[in-house]
Amino acid sequence: MKSFLIILLVIFSFLSFGQDGNNVLIVTKEGMKNIPAYIREGTVYFSLKDFADALVINYYYNEDAQKIELKFDRYSLKASAKNPFFILTEKNTSVQTVIQLPTSTYLINNKVFVPLKYGLSTLSLAYGKDLSFEAPNKILIGKVKDESITTETTGDFNITGIALDEKANGTLIRIKSNKRIPSYHSAFKNNTLILTFRKVKVDAEKVKFIGEEGVVRKIDAKNIGDDAVFEITVSKEYTTNEVINIEKSNDLQITIHNKLFKKNENINRLKDKWEFDVIVIDAGHGGKDAGAIGVNGAKEKDINLSIALKLGKLIEENMKDVKVVYTRKTDIFIDLYKRGKIANENNGKLFISIHCNSTPKKPTDANGFEVYLLRPGRTKEAIAIAEFENSVIQYEENPNRYEKLTDENFILVSMAHSSYMKYSEKFAEYLHKEFVKHPGLNSRGVKQAGFYVLVGASMPSVLIESGFLSNSGDAKHLSSDSGQQKFAEYVFNGIKKYRESYELEMQSE
Ligand SMILES: [Zn+2]
Repeated sequence: MKSFLIILLVIFSFLSFGQDGNNVLIVTKEGMKNIPAYIREGTVYFSLKDFADALVINYYYNEDAQKIELKFDRYSLKASAKNPFFILTEKNTSVQTVIQLPTSTYLINNKVFVPLKYGLSTLSLAYGKDLSFEAPNKILIGKVKDESITTETTGDFNITGIALDEKANGTLIRIKSNKRIPSYHSAFKNNTLILTFRKVKVDAEKVKFIGEEGVVRKIDAKNIGDDAVFEITVSKEYTTNEVINIEKSNDLQITIHNKLFKKNENINRLKDKWEFDVIVIDAGHGGKDAGAIGVNGAKEKDINLSIALKLGKLIEENMKDVKVVYTRKTDIFIDLYKRGKIANENNGKLFISIHCNSTPKKPTDANGFEVYLLRPGRTKEAIAIAEFENSVIQYEENPNRYEKLTDENFILVSMAHSSYMKYSEKFAEYLHKEFVKHPGLNSRGVKQAGFYVLVGASMPSVLIESGFLSNSGDAKHLSSDSGQQKFAEYVFNGIKKYRESYELEMQSE
């Protein structure tokens, strides 16, 4: 069957320019996919990596070098972050063309964002399909320019592509499959990792790779009997590999680790590093900074402290092997950056910042518990909450020490937090699951926003908005001794569940 893609790009602008939350919609014959977009001075930028993922285009991404190479049938296209050049290479002739765009690309959340209206013609040429952009409700229809070039239909093949992601400690290879791969077998000899995937067929031409840097140097594949056999040639830097199924997908992810990974592992403080032995509890606000004021007159700083102390006591009594560190135990003011510092100096393995929510309009119907991860805010509400919590730096002597959490700054922050984020997510999820069962508080789920207090803590960390002090029900509940005790118990149950899963994972590694 001939396939041509119909690509429709619609820009949704949920927020003001330069904010997060914009998307480009890619519509193909098979369905629609949203990819992140970014608007700067009226120009729409989109993530090349997500574009490739959405259209199942092979790519090689080097996170350190901040460059991405899309591998089309006839061309490869290279783009780098903060750089106005595309390098287009025709595969057969190796002829390179350098295309200068009128603006540079951006690096956002570790991805290269390219300007839509300037980048599309080059992409169209490289892809071999018509891509065009129409304002304002931007429709872009593409069809195959030269059918002799593209071999979009892959017939009986299951594995139809790969994507490589270069990281500091190794390379991630995503094996794109349209069928669940039931099992695999791996062997290593002569610098070659041989992975046999059972009962799937690979489109060998589509997964070929030759690299000059990184731990993966060459990928070849062939079909032997019912199986697809991958041969991955690696450099001397190779140490170990692991293969995992990607959630909600038939794809597999192979991680090829280099020596840097091994080195980290060999530092045998690994156990110390990961042992779940210190929990840092941060009662938000304090002293001259009261935080939000409840409809019943209750001060956020007092409720935060009461819950923090009650939670700490529960941990001390029921997890005798875990030390509790408090950023404050009394009604005093502490700079936001110092809270993270205290956590780091005590080698915390979990950081919990306790706050209460409020809305500008009081009283309000909005109510319930929320748990926040440190990531760019996705909704107006989340952004406003982070702004409120961050605004306490006005009480500090040197508020200029905090770098505004713009998209660009978030890249640095998320890099520093990348190794913990998975655990922060897990803990947040456990908390949410506990609070769903809470009889007196509604759980509004796991959210994300840019809280300064979480930036400084080098460990899995969350910020809890216990409930809305602007809501009379929540305010009453959270002001009472029994309500605070109950709240602490639910957090403690979340910690217990998280600890079990965390320790199980550490054991199996
Ligand atoms: Zn607060």
